[in-house]
Amino acid sequence: MTHQNISSGITPLVFTDLDGTLLDHHTYSFEAAQPAIDFLKGAGIPWIFNTSKTLSELLPLANRLDNQHPMIVENGGGIALPQDYPDADLSEIANSERVPGDSEHPTADGYCLVTLGAARKLIIEVLADMRSSFAFTGASQMSTSAFAAVTNLDEAQSGLALERYFSEPLIWRDSEQKLSEFASALALHGLHLLRGGRFVHVIGNSDKGRAMRWLCERCWGQADNGVVTIALGDSDNDVAMLEASDYPIVIRSPVHPPPPIKHVSVRISNHIGPAGWTEMLFGVLDELGYAVPAGKDYL
Ligand SMILES: [Mg+2]
Repeated sequence: MTHQNISSGITPLVFTDLDGTLLDHHTYSFEAAQPAIDFLKGAGIPWIFNTSKTLSELLPLANRLDNQHPMIVENGGGIALPQDYPDADLSEIANSERVPGDSEHPTADGYCLVTLGAARKLIIEVLADMRSSFAFTGASQMSTSAFAAVTNLDEAQSGLALERYFSEPLIWRDSEQKLSEFASALALHGLHLLRGGRFVHVIGNSDKGRAMRWLCERCWGQADNGVVTIALGDSDNDVAMLEASDYPIVIRSPVHPPPPIKHVSVRISNHIGPAGWTEMLFGVLDELGYAVPAGKDYL
């Protein structure tokens, strides 16, 4: 079996959400995605995490999956580029865009962190001015154990989730009406709200879609071959990424209906989570001329 692309002229890039997409919603297993992961590695196709998680949370997973590609973190707020990534021209990235690594943040070692939205430091400054008008508790005001209690993470995981550079999760303690006033006030500072399950997240002027486009341009913009983006996600916070991609794939969730996607080519997996990930990636790669495993034997 060959992994060569027989229809020359196409450079596919895969952008993937993690929870509920590459990872099973309940168990966080990626076992059912392994056949497609192996295929991507064999074919030399970049596969890029595009997630709400922090870099510190992602490093152990990237290690386990042997993924050495850039990572889009904190819902598109920033990008972690491996320092020695062959496709990236880091000299093009202005110092002002970088988050300097230091001894306080050793997990940034080996990566160049690029701010696409706003630095968390700035977000926290803006929020400090709003405390007198709105009731909320920011993650930066919470201890690791308080954060662990809210998220059901253990202390260690909680610590990794709190190592943030580009966003601030809040527990909202005010009315819905006040939340929309809050959003308008944030917009004046170039910040916006993203609603999650437990938190509302304050981030800069970026999202998963904008981060995907930024990375394509900076790393593969000069590619001789035509770049096509394949995006996979299961939730509302994946919509911007899916709508900005060439091949948007909604991965079916066991807990919520597929989000509506405004794109003529959207497709929805039959299988749930990582099994849907393999199913749909093999389908698209087959259409792009790759010799994917035949039939459904891989599931
Ligand atoms: Mg998800």
